[in-house]
Amino acid sequence: MDATFVQPTSLSAGLRCRCPRCGEGRLFSGFLRIAPSCERCGLSFAFADPADGPAFFVMSGVGIAVIALWAWAVVVFQPPLWAQFATVFPALIGLCLATLRPMKAWLVAEQYVHKAEEGRWASTGVHGEGGFAFDRRKACGG
Ligand SMILES: [Zn+2]
Repeated sequence: MDATFVQPTSLSAGLRCRCPRCGEGRLFSGFLRIAPSCERCGLSFAFADPADGPAFFVMSGVGIAVIALWAWAVVVFQPPLWAQFATVFPALIGLCLATLRPMKAWLVAEQYVHKAEEGRWASTGVHGEGGFAFDRRKACGG
């Protein structure tokens, strides 16, 4: 293990689909399957769980952009229906597939940088003083 890595920005690691710590190891072992750990620095990718975040952002972003362009083109050029089918569906599918990997890698890198993980309840050891508990004494003026 080499300790001379310069941590990349999360956007840089994401766009290149690389490890968020060293920026060199590959993040994926398949098209969207995350590798167990970094092949270069050994960072475990067990923390990585962007769930449906990448799909949501890609679907929304690509969908809005392509449909807006489509609506504009239909009004301006009035293309035949077959031409609309031949361009809009490949554009939607192609752009979603092209952006899904870097979007997922970027969200994993953001998870790593911000140490985001599932919420856990931690007791403070005092009854009624933990977490988001409602403070009755302040609310009742006493
Ligand atoms: Zn690494």
